[in-house]
Amino acid sequence: MIVDQRLVTYINSLDKGNTPFLNELEMKALRDYVPIIRRETQSLLKMLLQLKRPSRILEVGTAVGFSALLMYTYGPEDCQITTIENYEKRIPIARENFRKAGAEKRITLLEGDAQEVLKTLEGPYDFIFMDAAKGQYIHFFPEILRLLDKGGLLVSDNVLQGGDIIESHFAVERRNRTIYKRMREYLSVLKNSEELETAILPLGDGVALSVKKEQQEENHEG
Ligand code: SAH
Ligand code: MG
Repeated sequence: MIVDQRLVTYINSLDKGNTPFLNELEMKALRDYVPIIRRETQSLLKMLLQLKRPSRILEVGTAVGFSALLMYTYGPEDCQITTIENYEKRIPIARENFRKAGAEKRITLLEGDAQEVLKTLEGPYDFIFMDAAKGQYIHFFPEILRLLDKGGLLVSDNVLQGGDIIESHFAVERRNRTIYKRMREYLSVLKNSEELETAILPLGDGVALSVKKEQQEENHEG
């Protein structure tokens, strides 16, 4: 927990919530230990969708389709969503959830390792939601940057690892060390990229918001 739990509980208590379909899906996912975006992150995504009104959304990390269906429900009516998942057990569940929601025409689920799948995609996407294996964001980044439209928004979830990302190498469990190191590298790349403007929010499990600049050349000359 990055922020005081009582504060998070209070903030979430103000939320008017989602549709019954999404509520049920969320409950089921939590019951089955499927990792899905937190309430605070859901609220942020919904606000960003209103602000940005994207027409093409790309998601990396479908799980059982909760966040894809949240974006489907609260995004523009005509927007297309492409989402990538490589865990065979979750793919049929996600497909079934998309079918139940009547969302198959607007959500395309691509099966496979995002590292490979991303290479095959054609941009531009004006909204990208990165929510897959934390240690891989840095490897996905070149393709993500290629696929992101100018003025497009990249939302990266779980970037602060419950706050543990700032712990010393030795305080961190061995298996997490590489993940944290790569995540710090990723955040550094996001913040230092000439092509992006990035803000890191201690919201949920840590969210980075990056916009691809429209006028990069002017910034170089200026
Ligand atoms: N966005 C979902 C939760 C995603 S959990 C939601 O909020 O509803 C992260 C998912 O990313 C997991 O299901 C995991 O199997 C998948 N994943 C991790 N690494 C991946 C990779 N390299 N390629 C494709 N999917 C990956
Ligand atoms: Mg996540």
